This record gives sequence, C-alpha cells and structure tokens, in this order.
Amino acid sequence: MGKYTRPKGTQDLLPATQRYWEYLRATVRREALQYGFERIDLPLFEETALFTRGVGEATDIVEKEMYSFEDKGGRKITLRPEFTAGVVRAYIENGMRVQPKPVKLYSVGPIFRYERPQAGRYRQFHQFNAEVLGVQEPLADLEVMLLAWDIYAALDFQGLAFQLNSTGCPQCRPAYIQTLTAYYHQHAAEICDTCRRRLTTNPLRVLDCKETRCQPVIAGAPKIAEQLCTECETHFTALRGYLDELEKPYTLNHRLVRGLDYYTKTVFEVWAEGIGAQAAVCGGGRYDGLIELLGGPPTPAVGFAAGLERIIMVMQHQETPVPELPTPPVFIAHLGAAASRVAVQLLVDLRAAGIGAQIAMSGSLRSQLRTADRKGGRFALIIGEREMEHGEVTVKDMAQGWSQTSIPLEAVVAWVQARLKRVSE
Ligand code: AMP
Repeated sequence: MGKYTRPKGTQDLLPATQRYWEYLRATVRREALQYGFERIDLPLFEETALFTRGVGEATDIVEKEMYSFEDKGGRKITLRPEFTAGVVRAYIENGMRVQPKPVKLYSVGPIFRYERPQAGRYRQFHQFNAEVLGVQEPLADLEVMLLAWDIYAALDFQGLAFQLNSTGCPQCRPAYIQTLTAYYHQHAAEICDTCRRRLTTNPLRVLDCKETRCQPVIAGAPKIAEQLCTECETHFTALRGYLDELEKPYTLNHRLVRGLDYYTKTVFEVWAEGIGAQAAVCGGGRYDGLIELLGGPPTPAVGFAAGLERIIMVMQHQETPVPELPTPPVFIAHLGAAASRVAVQLLVDLRAAGIGAQIAMSGSLRSQLRTADRKGGRFALIIGEREMEHGEVTVKDMAQGWSQTSIPLEAVVAWVQARLKRVSE
C-alpha cells in the first residue's frame, strides 16, 4: 500500500465498474427524459444556512452528518448532504416560478454525509433526485412515484412495492402530534432516550425509531392517516385511487414519516428484493412548506431521491446484463523510428475519419501484439521494417481468427472503415 489512502467512507470507482455506472446513468436519464423531467446541475456546496433551514435543525443530517467548513473568505459552507434544498434555492433564485407548472427537475451526482461507513453506506455517495414543483394535485405525487418505480423496473429489480403514508399538513398535524405525545407520555418508561428527546424536538420521528424496546409502543401508537383534515384526506384518497387503478401494490405504513413542518401529505418508499429481504430502495414525499420557508412564494412540491451505490450493488448481485463499454476497434503496432512516425500519422488519420484507434507506446512487436489482443479491439495494424519497405500495413483481423493481409498504406483507413461499416449495418 502507498503512503496515502482514500478518506474513510469514500470509494474509488475503478474502470472495471464503470460499465455499471454508465448503464445506470443512461437508464435514469432515459426514464427522466421520457417523463419530461429536465436536468438541473447545482453546486456541490452551498451556504450552510440553506441546509440548517432547508433540511432542518432537528434532523440527523444537520445534527451530525454535514461536512461544513469556513472558506477563505469566512463564509460558512457545506458539501451538499441532499439535493432538495439546493433545487429549491435554484428554483427561487432563477425565477423559475414564472415557468408553466409543473416544473419537473432531476439531478444526479455526489452527496456527502458524515455517517458511520458500512456496506452500502458511504460518506460520499451518489443520488438520483427528482422534484415536481408548483402543483398541489395528487397527480404530481403519482408522477414521482411512477418515475421511481419505472427506474427500478427498468433495472430488473424484483418484488417492487410502495410503502405509503400521509403525514398531514399544518392544519391537521398539530392535533395529531398532541395525541401522539400524550400517548407517548403514558409510555414514557418504556421508550429509549432518543425518543424521549425527539418528543420535544421532532415528535413524528419517534415512529421510525429502530430500538427494540420502542417497537411495541410504536405498534400501538395513534395513526396520523386516521386524523387527516378533509383536504389531506381527499388528496390521499385520490393518490391511492390512481395507484389502485394502475394496480401498483402499496402498503399503508403509518410509521413512514419525515419529521418536519414543511413536509406535508404524501410520504413514500419503494421497496424491492435487492440483496436480501425486501427493503426500502428509495424514499420521497411532498414538501409544500419548504419553498416559502426558504424565501420563495408559497409553492407546493413533491420529490424523491435514490441512492446509486445501492442500486449498483443489487445490479452486480443479481447479475443484471450490462453491456461492456466500447473499446477502439484499431490498435497500431510499430517498430523503429521511421515506422513510429508513419504510425502516428495513421493514428491521427483514423481518428479523423471517426474510427477509434490506439497506438502502442513501448515494447517489442510481439509484446505490442499481446497488448493489442488484451485491449480487445478488432484490427491490429502492424508497421515494421518490411512494411516500411513496401509502403504497406499488415492488418490482422480478430474477427477472422487474426487472419493477416497486406494493405497499401494509403488505402488502410478506407479499408478499415468499409469493414467496420459492414459490422454496424
Ligand atoms: P435519504 O436522502 O436519506 O432519504 O436517502 C435516499 C437514498 O439515498 C437511500 O434510499 C439510499 O439508497 C441512499 N443513501 C442514503 N444515505 C446513504 C449513504 N450514506 N451511502 C450510500 N447511500 C445512501
């Protein structure tokens, strides 16, 4: 091992895994464009205050997971720990409110969270993120749910199903939270310290506590979906109606919550078989209060984020057929100073003609040809002393069992082109 190692929780995505990444990026892009989502690329870092406000002080992300620092100008900066706050900032800052509604945006890129690394959990990882802004109707919730679904379906994930909940709105949630905290106070002796603390900072979150001792208390807790106001109830019923109509399986899960005020109505996860038992592969929901909270006009919105590393782990595990990345079809081997100059000219001519080509950079002809073999291109072009004397190139065609022909130097580009064309036709 060298002197330096990668920082804890980060990964080197080596060339051997890149075909998975390319395939995954191409799949999410294709699905997003088919749905009419437009791509938006945002800075990897933002003002820290955007996230403390936009993600929420009482969340794990803001409490303990942000990569924050002061830049040389004394600004407080944070590497993005999620996409939504940045998307909303950009929506407001770029005046996107004047665009026809809905505004449908997607992003793909790195996310940073100071978490305890383990299998499938990193400190730098990638997400695909999609948001629909400007529409209150449940069709917007349906749109992001279907996009999430179709991405996993396109990648051959098995056992797909939604988990679904509604967490109400500022009209109906306060009354529910009162009921919930009253219930929890009756069970104060049975719950963990984190839940006890959350009851004051972020009460809904007690419902997704993973501690064993809290499970019976959660199971008996009052359900928010049974205390929705008329507007939230109507919205939830309509969304479920669409899902029923489309025969998309979903389970109502009253533990599915996102604790903060600006999260409203729909919360969902997509579950799939993945590597072991069925588990969440992505999550999302509605956040009608966020845009106003961040200084924009009141604007309803809904979105989701999916982790790409975990998708790739599943693709590798289930051996999803993923095409090899294309390699240049031509490899040029050469020997001697004069031949290398001719070889370089040929290399440039091939590339100018749109033909992928590589040139040997060292070694004997024999070792160059071994390299050619390993690189997996179709044609090896050889320019040695004999070829120089005759103004020719020796061509070995791998598709023909490395059969060998001599072609006049000036005719080689057209010769290769004609043969490659035949393959692609
Ligand atoms: P969240 O933004 O926490 O709702 O996470 C959305 C998705 O991002 C999850 O379903 C995971 O697939 C993925 N994810 C979250 N945290 C990590 C992490 N530390 N490392 C890798 N993937 C993650």
